[in-house]
Amino acid sequence: MSMLEVAGLGHAYGGVDAVSDVSFVVEPGELVCIVGPSGCGKSTLLRCIAGLLPPTRGTVSLHGDRVVGVPSDLAVVFQDYSRSLLPWRTVAGNVEFPLRDRGLSTVERRSRVEEALSWVGLSEAAGKHPFELSGGMQQRVSIARALAYRPALMLMDEPFASVDAQTRADLEDLVLTVRASAGMTVLLVTHDIDESVYLADRVLVLSQSPATVVETLKVDLSSP
Ligand code: ADP
Ligand code: ADP
Repeated sequence: MSMLEVAGLGHAYGGVDAVSDVSFVVEPGELVCIVGPSGCGKSTLLRCIAGLLPPTRGTVSLHGDRVVGVPSDLAVVFQDYSRSLLPWRTVAGNVEFPLRDRGLSTVERRSRVEEALSWVGLSEAAGKHPFELSGGMQQRVSIARALAYRPALMLMDEPFASVDAQTRADLEDLVLTVRASAGMTVLLVTHDIDESVYLADRVLVLSQSPATVVETLKVDLSSP
């Protein structure tokens, strides 16, 4: 069964279509990138898939079940890091908090927090609060939180937009490593075609607004 099935999805803001008739499936373990020009409707599409925005038309299904509300086996990394962390919790607390839904022991939760913060190079910042960190560091905390959670499906909206080039390259490789070891399925939105070709098994290319899938590229790095 497919991990994710999007069928005839559309979303309109006040009668104006932002996403129009998008259909695709993502198989378990795949890393699929969605690329398209700025403003074409990528974030809107991702928010519909995450259950944060009700589709105006069409359906989203996870493991064959229609998504209504926010599914529990899903994590989202937003582009807008400033709104994604809880300001009153420490960095470690932000990474740990969602793990309380995962049925993990205190010891397991602590070890996942330590591991994820070390992955993103923020072990030293565990006891700090988000406002004490730069934007790029806050974004790394969001990524650590999502990776520590190890959802069946990870949704990422321009996750590396606010970090420098070296960190971006490190984080891209981190996502590839963790998804392979945890068997995660990843759907990642970017406007950067090079990034999508580097990361993805498959790239969905969206049209100008209102977004619809115009092409699907299979990325096969094994061929010359
Ligand atoms: P992208 O992520 O590709 O940049 P968005 O999904 O953010 O595109 O936006 C798609 C279109 O929907 C744009 O024209 C944008 O102005 C519009 N839009 C996005 N969010 C809202 C909103 N909350 N209310 C009204 N229009 C919106
Ligand atoms: P908050 O003030 O946001 O509640 P805490 O600092 O009390 O956050 O930490 C919440 C949880 O995060 C702790 O119960 C623990 O499991 C985990 N945690 C805290 N500090 C660390 C750390 N340095 N390394 C790993 N896990 C930590």
